[in-house]
Amino acid sequence: MEKTSHNFETLAIRTQADQSQFREHTTALYLTSSFTFNSAEQGAAIFQGQEDGNLYSRFSNPNTSEFINKLCALEDCEEGIATASGMAAIYTSFVTFLSQGDHILASKDIFGNATYIIEKLLPRMGVSYTFVDVDDLQAWEEEIKPNTRLIYVESPSNPTLKIADLASIAGLCKVNKIISVIDNCFATPYLQQPAHFGFDLVLHSATKYLDGQGRVIGGAIVGKGDLIKQCYDFIRRTGACLSPFNAWVLAKSIETLSLRMERHCSNALQLAEWLSQQSEVGSVSYPFLDAHPQVELARKQMKLGGGLVAIDLAGDAESGHKFLNSLQLFSLTANLGDSRSIATHPASTTHSKLDTASQLAMGITPGYIRLSVGLEHIDDLKNDVEQALKKIK
Ligand SMILES: *Cc1c(COP(=O)(O)O)cnc(C)c1O
Repeated sequence: MEKTSHNFETLAIRTQADQSQFREHTTALYLTSSFTFNSAEQGAAIFQGQEDGNLYSRFSNPNTSEFINKLCALEDCEEGIATASGMAAIYTSFVTFLSQGDHILASKDIFGNATYIIEKLLPRMGVSYTFVDVDDLQAWEEEIKPNTRLIYVESPSNPTLKIADLASIAGLCKVNKIISVIDNCFATPYLQQPAHFGFDLVLHSATKYLDGQGRVIGGAIVGKGDLIKQCYDFIRRTGACLSPFNAWVLAKSIETLSLRMERHCSNALQLAEWLSQQSEVGSVSYPFLDAHPQVELARKQMKLGGGLVAIDLAGDAESGHKFLNSLQLFSLTANLGDSRSIATHPASTTHSKLDTASQLAMGITPGYIRLSVGLEHIDDLKNDVEQALKKIK
């Protein structure tokens, strides 16, 4: 898309598909599986890539294009491709570039299904892997092998909210000719634009903050044009494309991304500060808390601290469950990045596939709780957490 001097909020609203002959203000929903040609010659030209144009909605569609053009503008990336889900974006970025004999270097605390792909599926294709602590820059450097083809990172990390040094990791990739890939789902482009730190590809689960209202599953890969073209070829042929309807919802959702992120972050910071003073809480993780070991790096890379807060109740799994069962306002659900606040017990849900030793190595204790702080009034959220904390004593 053409570069303009507009600011983030304006790009989020005004990056739009061309108006049709009906002069609609909001982009229409194009529920069509294929597109017609004006002539046999035009069909041939579009098919052979000599003329731009939609062919078939597995390849492109006005709604998916609008969504991806908007995300490219916000991430300040050349090109992108919409995917059926966040997992489709992750899988596509791996399988497009990794071949037999290659090695992938990834951070440990990543989304559980990404770990599954790296540990269980990639080895079947002859791809080896190494996991490192996301905040251990020396380990990132030392574990690069001659056959390392791709580096994969999530920052802030899930669920422990550690921070990766994005500029240094992208720099290592550049020197060693490694493709750098980041899942930017927790931060969103409003808080952090990884391309500015040198990342080649930026992935999203649009299911989370980009929609932000818990309605649709979707994903995206944005980044360098030559790499995106290869991802596009994979998606176009294997079919993990985004539905036009979900793209239409997402393109509308993103119009309010900046407003929502401001409120998510201010609620989360206030809740994290308050939680730090509660005797029932052993420790609190939030990237913008003064007590976070990487607060300076977080403030350098991110505009605000994000919507997730993690607490360690310093008790056993029972106290974790008791806390969750006592919450009245927070939802118990396996999601995040929603207007509704959500509480999760990683040890027994999202990270339950890891054995206890691996969980503890990552900092996931039995009393560890991940809070996705929503857009409700902060006083109501505090009151809910306060009454639940009292019940675990
Ligand atoms: C949810 C999530 C994913 C997976 O996205 P889906 O849209 O559910 O496939 C990937 N990464 C992170 C950080 C997530 O939170």
